This record gives sequence, C-alpha cells and structure tokens, in this order.
Amino acid sequence: MSQYPNLEKALKYYFGYDSFRPGQREVIENALSNRDSLIVMPTGGGKSLCFQLPALIKSGLTVVVSPLIALMQDQVEALRKNGIAATFLNSTLNGYQTRSREQAILSGKVKLLYVAPERLLSERFLPLLDLVHHEVGISAFAIDEAHCVSEWGHDFRPEYRQLILLRQRYSNVPVLALTATATNRVRTDIITQLGLKQPNIHVASFNRQNLYYEVRSKNKNTYPEILEMIREIEGSGIIYCLTRKQVEELAFKLQHDKISALPYHAGLSDNERSQNQTRFIRDDVRVMVATIAFGMGINKPDVRFVIHYSLPRNLESYYQESGRAGRDGEPSRCTMFFSYGDIKTIEWSISQKSDEQEQLIAKQQLRQMIDYAEGTDCRRTIQLGYFGERFPGSCNNCDNCRYSKPVQDWTIEAMKFLSCVARCKEKFGMTHIIDVLRGSKNRKVLQYKHNELSTYGIGKDRTVDEWRLLGRSLLHQGLLEQTTDGYSVLKLNALSWEVMRRQRTVSIVVPVQPKIISQQRSTKASQAEILLYRLRSLRKQIADEQSIPPYVIFADSTLKLMAQVQPQTKAEFGQLSGVVTRKLEEYGDKFLAEIRAYRQEQNLSNSQVKTSPSSNLPSDTESLTLQLYQQGLNVNEIAQQRNLRPTTIIRHLSDLIEKNQPIDLNQLVSPQKQQKIWQVLDVLGDIALTPIKEYLGDDYSFDEIRLVRGKWRCQNSK
Ligand code: ADP
Ligand code: ZN
Repeated sequence: MSQYPNLEKALKYYFGYDSFRPGQREVIENALSNRDSLIVMPTGGGKSLCFQLPALIKSGLTVVVSPLIALMQDQVEALRKNGIAATFLNSTLNGYQTRSREQAILSGKVKLLYVAPERLLSERFLPLLDLVHHEVGISAFAIDEAHCVSEWGHDFRPEYRQLILLRQRYSNVPVLALTATATNRVRTDIITQLGLKQPNIHVASFNRQNLYYEVRSKNKNTYPEILEMIREIEGSGIIYCLTRKQVEELAFKLQHDKISALPYHAGLSDNERSQNQTRFIRDDVRVMVATIAFGMGINKPDVRFVIHYSLPRNLESYYQESGRAGRDGEPSRCTMFFSYGDIKTIEWSISQKSDEQEQLIAKQQLRQMIDYAEGTDCRRTIQLGYFGERFPGSCNNCDNCRYSKPVQDWTIEAMKFLSCVARCKEKFGMTHIIDVLRGSKNRKVLQYKHNELSTYGIGKDRTVDEWRLLGRSLLHQGLLEQTTDGYSVLKLNALSWEVMRRQRTVSIVVPVQPKIISQQRSTKASQAEILLYRLRSLRKQIADEQSIPPYVIFADSTLKLMAQVQPQTKAEFGQLSGVVTRKLEEYGDKFLAEIRAYRQEQNLSNSQVKTSPSSNLPSDTESLTLQLYQQGLNVNEIAQQRNLRPTTIIRHLSDLIEKNQPIDLNQLVSPQKQQKIWQVLDVLGDIALTPIKEYLGDDYSFDEIRLVRGKWRCQNSK
C-alpha cells in the first residue's frame, strides 16, 4: 500500500493528467520523504513533474535551478496557465519587477521559483534566500539539467560547480538533481559535484517507445523523400544538417516547394536566430532546417519528426538530437540519412585533429555510428546497448523490425574481392580494387600493370556501388581490415583467408529502397480529423492573441481527445486529460463553441456535402448566416441568434464572399484597410493568416484579413 494514496488526485487537480508516466510516482514519493535524489530520465520522460508536484504538496518554496532563460520563461508560463504559483528571476526583468516578485516570494505566495545558477549564487540573492529559508521555508532545490556540472557532459557550465554551496549552506533542504544524460561517468560526477547525501538514484529506461527510428541511404532521391515525408506527416519537424551551406540550400529548396521552413545556424545574427526559433515554437513555421546549434534551448513538446540529413557525430548525440521529437509521448518519427560520402567527410575532419587521443575517440565513435546505420538488428537494441541498457529487440517500431532486409549470399563476390586485394599486394584502397575488378583502364591501373592480374575485369557483372557495399560490409564484419593512417589501405586478416579458402561464407544485407510508410491514413480526412484541424486553428488563433506557444494552451494529445470525445458541457470538457480548472475557465467555452459549431454544421449540411463536395454554392449553415445578414443583423447579433462564435460567423461571411455571394465587404472592413491587406496578399500570395497579420501589425485583426482574403480569393480564382 502506498504511503501517498492521493497522489493521482493531486496530479489531476494541478496538471489535469489522469496517470503518472513510468517512474514519476516513485520519484515523487521519494521527494516527499525529503531525501536527496538523482533522477535520470530521457527527454520527454516527464522530469519536471517530479519536482513540481512535490513543490505544490509540500509547504515552503521550491527553488529550481535552470540554465536557460528562454526555457525558464516557457516553463513558468505553462505552470501559470495551469493556475500554479510559479515565477522566475533573471536578467530580463527590471528592478521594479524583480522587487515585486521578491516580495511575493517572501509573503509565501510562490510555490516554485526558477533561477539561473549565477543569480542564485550572487551576493545579493543569497541573503534573500536566507530570509526565505527562515520565514517561508525552502522545500527543495531542484537542479535541472544537472549534467551541466560535469566536464564529461556535453554542456559543461562552470557556474554549476558552485551549487554545492547550497548543500553546505542549507544542509537540511533536499536537493533533487535531474538530467537526461545517459552515461555513468556523468551521473557519478553529478553526485559528487553537488554533494548529494546518500541520494535515491532513479534511472529510467531510455527507451522512447513513441519514436519510430529508421535509417535510409542518402542518394539522389533523398530530397524527394524528405519532401514526401514532410507532406505526409502533420506537425512540426527539425532537419539537422552538417554545414551552414547545407542548411541554407535545403531551407531554400523547401521554401521553393511551398513548405514553411526556416534556417537556423551560427551564421545568422542572434536576433534572426531567436526570431526563427520563436516562430518555430509558436507554429508559425513548420520545419526548422538547422545545424546542431539548434535544439538545446527548445522545450517544444510536439515536434513530430527529426531528420538527420547527415551522419551525426556519435550515437549519444544522435539519441539526444533525435530525442527532441515526441516529448509529449505522441508517435513521432526519427529518420537518419546515411552515405559513405558523409563518412569520408567526417574521417577527413577527424584526421585534422591534432590530439591523437581525441582522434582515436572520434574514430571509435564514428565506427559505432556506422554500425548503427548499417546494423540489421533492432535499432533500439543497438542504441540502448550503447548506454548499457539491454533491450530484447523486436520493438516493431523501427525499420529493421518492421521491414527486415533481405540477406544474400555473396561468398563468390567476396572471394573475388579479397583475392584482388591479395593480388594487389595489400597496398591499395577500395576504389582501386574496384577499378581492377571492373576492368578499368585508368592511369593508375595501367601504371601498376594491374590490367595483367588474373582478377582484372572479373567483376564487371556488379556495379561500383555494389562492390563498395560488399567492401564496407567485409570491413564491418571484420573479414577485411583497413589502415587508419589516412590512406585506408585494405589489408587481409586471418578471416579473409578463411573466406578465400572457402571455409567461411559471406552474407550481406542488401538495402531495399524504403517506401514512405503511410501512417495508415486514408486520403479522405475522417470526421475527427476535420474537427481536430478546426480545434488546432482555434488554438493557434488564441495563442497568437495571447503571444504564447500553442502547446501551452492544450497539448496535442488533449486536442485529439477533444476531437474524439466531442464534449458537450463544461463538466465533460473538464474530464479530458490535460484540462485543469484554470484552463477550463479560460478556454473551455471557446473550444466547446467550436465543437458545437462543427457538430451543427455536420448535421445541417451532411447531405449536401455528400452530393457535391467541391460545390461553390454556400453550405446550409452559410446560407443561414447569409439570410440573417441580409435581414440587417450584424456579426455579433448573428452569432448570438445562432449560438455560434462571432469568429465562426466571420468565417461564414468570408467563405460567402469567396463564393461570390452578395455581401458588402465595405460594411465590414474599411476601404483603406482593404487596400492595404489586398496589397500584402498580392505580394505574399494565398498563405495563412498569421504571417499576413505579422506583416500588417496590430492595427489589423484576423477577422479583417480573413474577410478581405475571401474577396481576394474570389477574384483571383477566375
Ligand atoms: P523532460 O523534462 O523529461 O524532457 P517534461 O517534464 O518537459 O519532460 O515533460 C514532457 C511532456 O510530457 C510535457 O509536455 C509534460 O506536460 C508531459 N507530461 C509529463 N508528465 C505527464 C503525465 N503524467 N501525463 C501526461 N503528460 C505528461
Ligand atoms: Zn526495433
């Protein structure tokens, strides 16, 4: 029997969720017993809740140390939307704001305080903390991104080292360290550097079940494949490239193909970068094409795909970068494109490193990366094995599990290849060996008189690519060696001789061109999907009005539930997972009205929609609005009479205008404004409302733009 039987109730009350994610309950129970903890959970595991819920249950203030200002603001914003008393202190606030927040803290009104480490440890702040400790009580210190304390981690921040001061100064306040780091060395380092006392260590599985992993070969079809994938998947995504130039080119191509995409790399100004990032987070733009500089400060939970256009540096980076997909637990896709050309580039850059030890490590990491890419085992088995976690395989959510690749017997080809290496006296690289096998007459072949060898031209039946595939596979399987002096000379080993003596067979995995896996979606959108689409637009519209990211209003999973369940009353709405009282009050009516409007329209116009789906005639509901409009009612009056939202009426009106029905636009939008909006439409074309509004500024409303766009469409469609 649990010590805390009511935790689920608290979870629902504060966060609106129905159940805990794996491990959360255990960690929270520990936190409530005031022990130090080290909490290791993968990205998206739901770490924040592990200190947030105890903070709300316990008395006093929980101080959260977080390294990134942008993240801090987002987290606090999301908490406040749930009606939770959270605040932050950082350099973006002016003196007045800081003081009033400090006062709120001292009055005991605040439950969660987010601060950056350098502020926490400043001369000015520590006395305040003492005061809080004395007057209000400090319920815990939560050190987020705790790996920053370790030099072995990927993001060392010296100021984190001083956090041990907290342990010394407030020895009875429990410290919770949280991280998504997968390596043991960093974990041990965190415990020592933060001075955790006999901490409870919780290491969650690093298996991210909702992510689909796949590797595809990179070739001339790659761009069309990416394009198809983006069109197929709904929602946002990140494409990682190796260089700025690649980023620029790919972003440009996507824009050209009408995908809303933006670049992100170190060559852009700080301002441009943060602007692009914000537009991504707010769903103004769908795809971010970026170097790995992008992602650290991003908490966006609804990233639906991460594509690696080039080989990542190592498996850990790959795991972390691809792991930015699907933090919200919804199905998401991680695709890596792999080419031998990329390996050459990375090998070259490794050879430029002056430190030999570094070179060795980098080479080994590259090897592991190639093993992953070429591997035929379950991708999860390989990844998790790298972190020391055993995974039995058959996950059914990676390409290798879903589409096992054909294995072919290539023993004869291998014998040809290896004996050619032998004939060339183990002094040449792969390209030359293949030239000889394929009977090339190039200068090098003739110069060494390799056209006189018995293996010359015995491999004409296979393409260069096929021989290369075999060569790599022989290396990969350890049936052939390659010097690491930068020349990559092929050398035989004992196993090579076994093959040549026919004592060993050779099988290789033949790549098949991957097909885009349709997400079992029929071309016709289902009813729930249409509603979901409308709810999404509503969410986006409200988010823009409030200048917050859409996910802060409701998570994707909550929207999906809404579209499925279609609640009719506020009580029903409040039952949905992810809806707390505060959000029910703030947003419930708007979403309920949209659902109601949708249901009404469905009932009214079902028959008509079926007979002529692409009809240019007004639908029944639009006709009704038109009638009332012609009787002289204004938008609000029509809305009231029909029990619909005014925005819905505006939508009807703009659709009516688009369908060339008798609506006088001049009564709805002033001619000057019409003219301005019209000009922008002429320049930007028929795009979403948000960018148009962004362009025009606050003087123009979404309604006005929508109405003028109706007319513009009407005239431009002829
Ligand atoms: P992490 O910091 O481990 O990457 P977060 O704390 O940001 O993960 O949580 C990831 C997402 O999962 C957030 O959108 C959060 O609201 C959601 N989440 C966390 N716990 C739960 C839960 N028990 N039920 C549903 N959603 C949850
Ligand atoms: Zn698998």
